[in-house]
Amino acid sequence: MSEAACHAPDPAGSPVATSARHEADVAIIGGGLAGSLAAAVLGRAGHRVTLIDRHAVYPPEFRVEKLAGDEIGLLRRLGLLDCIAASANRYEQVLNVRRGRVIDRTYGEQYGILYHDLVRTVREQIPSAVDLVVGRVTDVQTGPERQCITLASDGVVDATSNTEAALLWIECLNLPEGGQRIVATLVY
Ligand SMILES: Cc1cc2nc3c(=O)[nH]c(=O)nc-3n(C[C@H](O)[C@H](O)[C@H](O)COP(=O)(O)OP(=O)(O)OC[C@H]3O[C@@H](n4cnc5c(N)ncnc54)[C@H](O)[C@@H]3O)c2cc1C
Repeated sequence: MSEAACHAPDPAGSPVATSARHEADVAIIGGGLAGSLAAAVLGRAGHRVTLIDRHAVYPPEFRVEKLAGDEIGLLRRLGLLDCIAASANRYEQVLNVRRGRVIDRTYGEQYGILYHDLVRTVREQIPSAVDLVVGRVTDVQTGPERQCITLASDGVVDATSNTEAALLWIECLNLPEGGQRIVATLVY
């Protein structure tokens, strides 16, 4: 497809010159946990991936993530558990206490980690071949063969169609298609 067929829109509807253009097979908007995991998995699988986020480093937040159950199995299968566990606190017993009384106990492998540390750790696992574009996405144009993502800074990311990659993404999150926890967007 020609440059003219995939361009940043302007109010007059004619193509706008762009200062930066990235080509990718898979473009991921949002480098939180979901997008960073997808970038790590797809990049390791050899796909030409661009990850776009407003922040080069996920901003610190007073927010702790608990990893347990299926999440641990999935991260282990993706080969990402060891590096996350190294940055997290492991515990095996949770007491549910109400008004001084233990209501219940649950047992099993679990990890607690600050969210920005979790995202940082996963981003560190993203292969260097994956492009990280720092910018705010303002527009997405989709088509049967090419998708075009526009950034506030005039940058553009073109992504080709790649069904295999999309299936990998869904597997990565272990969700049925359209599941509610797909917050980051994959364009394929
Ligand atoms: C306080 C709290 C505690 C939680 N605890 C748990 C827990 O213990 N266990 C659990 O499983 N879940 C927990 N959750 C839920 C879990 O954290 C979320 O489901 C998960 O963080 C979502 O990740 P995400 O990557 O989809 O979104 P986010 O981490 O929000 O990432 C979205 C990314 O998109 C980027 N972005 C947004 N708009 C644009 C744009 N226009 N252009 C470019 N980039 C953009 C942002 O910069 C951001 O980096 C908790 C949530 C909260 C708020």
